[in-house]
Amino acid sequence: MQAFTLTHPSNTKAAVTAASQSGTKYIAGGTDLLQLAKDNVETPTRLVDLEALQMAGIHASAQGLHLEPLARMSDVAAHPDVVKGWPVLSQALLASASPQIRNMATMGGNLLQRTRCGYFRDTGFACNKRIPGSGCPAINGENRMHAILGVSDQCIATYPGDMAVAMTVLDAQLELTGPQGTRKVAIGDFHKVPGDTPHIETVLQPGEMITAIDMPASAAAQRSHYLKVRDRASFEFAIVSAAVALQIDGGTIRSARVAAGGVGTRPWRLPEVEAALTGKQADAATLKQAADQAGAGAKLAQMNAFKLVLLRRTVLRALQTVSA
Ligand SMILES: Cc1cc2nc3c(=O)[nH]c(=O)nc-3n(C[C@H](O)[C@H](O)[C@H](O)COP(=O)(O)OP(=O)(O)OC[C@H]3O[C@@H](n4cnc5c(N)ncnc54)[C@H](O)[C@@H]3O)c2cc1C
Ligand code: SF4
Repeated sequence: MQAFTLTHPSNTKAAVTAASQSGTKYIAGGTDLLQLAKDNVETPTRLVDLEALQMAGIHASAQGLHLEPLARMSDVAAHPDVVKGWPVLSQALLASASPQIRNMATMGGNLLQRTRCGYFRDTGFACNKRIPGSGCPAINGENRMHAILGVSDQCIATYPGDMAVAMTVLDAQLELTGPQGTRKVAIGDFHKVPGDTPHIETVLQPGEMITAIDMPASAAAQRSHYLKVRDRASFEFAIVSAAVALQIDGGTIRSARVAAGGVGTRPWRLPEVEAALTGKQADAATLKQAADQAGAGAKLAQMNAFKLVLLRRTVLRALQTVSA
């Protein structure tokens, strides 16, 4: 493990200044970063601990939900306003990791967790994401858990998180603060597909920090659901997951937001499913026809072709749940 220095800035400006030096990373709950550092996958020489910033607030109002970056997964999942107004978020968090990890892990850290591709996490293998240009053993190797959407010939790793998939159907906006000031980025624009640069996973610039996450309140957010399919119920990453949020008036679907996890190289919105739902009657035929559109353009690898079928079934079940 690479030795590092640890600083504890007490305000955002000092944290951003400290993190702008090369070789520096923020650390929040440490549940992903420390494991990667122990395995020599990440080798920061400086860590900037965010704990002293005391930015762990959870604020719900009639307008929306405002989360600070150090809010713990467990606290957000259990917050009564989140359970009532944004159930898909609470359900996605409760389906993530174990209770012990959720008690430590934060909103900002969750969005920036790195892929669980086994080749990426084992420095004994080549990996274009870890060492650009070194190769991708997953493409012709062990790829059962890998992505079918947004893949490139450089990388087929899945984005592993659940929460960001839920945030995708809630139209979340991230506030990013860096040396140049503060900007807003929609969750759908935050994570990048691998293309020729799989080591660049988000639009974050050096020193930039996630300082807030906002989601509007809406009828669709209240009528939302997260369904995760995984190899074991205790704790495991998604093979496939679906997040849905529907606004239904008088049996007609007025608006639809649908996204998937476990299948994409980033949280994957499914506009083809949304288009097949919007303006239609929320009946069995509509839901089935819409779910069957999921995964348009999928590129299947040798061991993960089953994911396309599972995706459509998972989306259908989630749609049935919210429209019941
Ligand atoms: C056994 C196990 C099972 C898991 N299962 C799941 C699962 O099923 N679903 C799921 O979604 N996740 C799962 N996880 C991942 C877990 O959710 C993440 O480890 C956790 O959310 C990371 O949050 P953290 O605060 O500990 O981040 P850290 O480990 O502290 O940081 C992670 C990254 O985020 C950066 N960072 C942190 N905060 C900020 C910020 N505010 N601004 C900019 N950068 C920041 C750090 O620099 C680092 O690069 C699992 C983890 C483990 C260990
Ligand atoms: S899929 Fe991506 S992360 Fe996994 S080995 Fe290939 S390049 Fe590395």
